[in-house]
Amino acid sequence: MKTVGILALQGDFDAHRKAVERAGGRPIEVRTAQDLDACDGLIVPGGESTTMLKLLDIEKLIEPLRQFTARKPVFGTCAGAILLAHSVTRPSQPSLDLIDIDVERNAYGRQIDSCVARVDAGGKDMEAIFIRAPKILRVGSGGKILATYNGDPVWVEQGRHMVTTFHPELTPDPRVHQRFLERVATSSGRV
Ligand code: GLN
Repeated sequence: MKTVGILALQGDFDAHRKAVERAGGRPIEVRTAQDLDACDGLIVPGGESTTMLKLLDIEKLIEPLRQFTARKPVFGTCAGAILLAHSVTRPSQPSLDLIDIDVERNAYGRQIDSCVARVDAGGKDMEAIFIRAPKILRVGSGGKILATYNGDPVWVEQGRHMVTTFHPELTPDPRVHQRFLERVATSSGRV
């Protein structure tokens, strides 16, 4: 069974723990660089990306995270997707540039600030919860769009990494976490 770390500095990491279990993985909470050593893949959860970035810096986790993701898969949801993006606007802030997407924060405006929607996951319907979600404005040529909402990409995979702007850990549908676990299982761990 593969071990999936869940960055547990801030945000909704506990819901991911249960989702990883449902999808057949072994979840562990990650708070230090040593915790990362035990992981085959890592989830960066939703929460508040500015705060999470500050905590990563304070805990001296940015460099260990870079080294980890050079070999192993990472999956970012919502704030996690913002942290992994190439560039971030509204307001702009630094990001790790691990996946070639540009995102705009809190982009869906007040009316649908948070909502339950149906997204199109490769022709199949999927329930998706958005909470002050970012919008993916650009997907690089290596990116594969796995789901869209009103034409916007909301689930993107690139190489061994993936992001969603919605929260698959909050719905019972295991498909997204299962796909991540497949990536973790097939990733060789080599650069
Ligand atoms: N709006 C948050 C941010 O910009 C993300 C929201 C979430 O992760 N649910 O960081």
